[in-house]
Amino acid sequence: MEVRNLMRNNKLNTVCEEARCPNLAECWNHRTATFMILGDTCTRSCGFCNIKVGLPTELDLDEPRRVAEAVNNLQLRHVVITSVNRDELQDGGASIFSELNRLIRETTPDCTIEILIPDFKGMEDAFEIIMQNPPDILNHNLETVPRMYHAVRPQAKYQRSLDLINWFHNRGLKTKSGIMVGIGETKEEVVDLMKDLVAHHCDILTIGQYLQPTGNHLPVHRFVTPEEFAFYKTEGSKTWFQNRGISSFGQKFLPCRSAGKNGHN
Ligand code: SF4
Repeated sequence: MEVRNLMRNNKLNTVCEEARCPNLAECWNHRTATFMILGDTCTRSCGFCNIKVGLPTELDLDEPRRVAEAVNNLQLRHVVITSVNRDELQDGGASIFSELNRLIRETTPDCTIEILIPDFKGMEDAFEIIMQNPPDILNHNLETVPRMYHAVRPQAKYQRSLDLINWFHNRGLKTKSGIMVGIGETKEEVVDLMKDLVAHHCDILTIGQYLQPTGNHLPVHRFVTPEEFAFYKTEGSKTWFQNRGISSFGQKFLPCRSAGKNGHN
């Protein structure tokens, strides 16, 4: 496959492949792909994520050029860029995101850019670096309800992630978040989380079933029924409409990223 060869030859990582996503062929045929930058080793250890954990040894400064080249060669219409956490770096890797955005704008101006970023430990200096070359959509996943953070995202903070979303909204960006369900949360907690997102000006929410990547990861607590997903859609539409006069549900910027199997923040 054209895309697969290009990734191999340029030593690029995609979440599509890392997660063995079943929608991979469909996305790539529609000229949408999700790149994972800043290496393949993460400084955090989320309970649901199958990315290698450790202390990365280097920062690949040439990576933005290679990813931008791949985006151009594939003539992507929409690109999603995510990363591992690089807490050991002073800017958390924000400058690499920013440089990549700049290069994609320069070489493939018709491609919309969505970045799915780590929390950068809440450092506004890192946020400012992102804003030097802003994306079309700023995505940051809450992943789960606050009660589950100790098990699901032990090094993250629920309020810090909400504040990040609000910060980028205040800078004029379209904001997005995602959560997994079936990992131990209740329906009521999900509804409360939606209210928190609206209060912090999140424009788009995606909800996906959690799937356990290996026996060493958090177990699936339950499989959420289609009826419950329909309930979230109805509740979410009401919440967004009542609070902000909009309904984000039904907007489709990319076909994948149901949460729960792999590395994203
Ligand atoms: S979800 Fe993100 S931050 Fe957490 S371990 Fe995976 S790559 Fe690292």
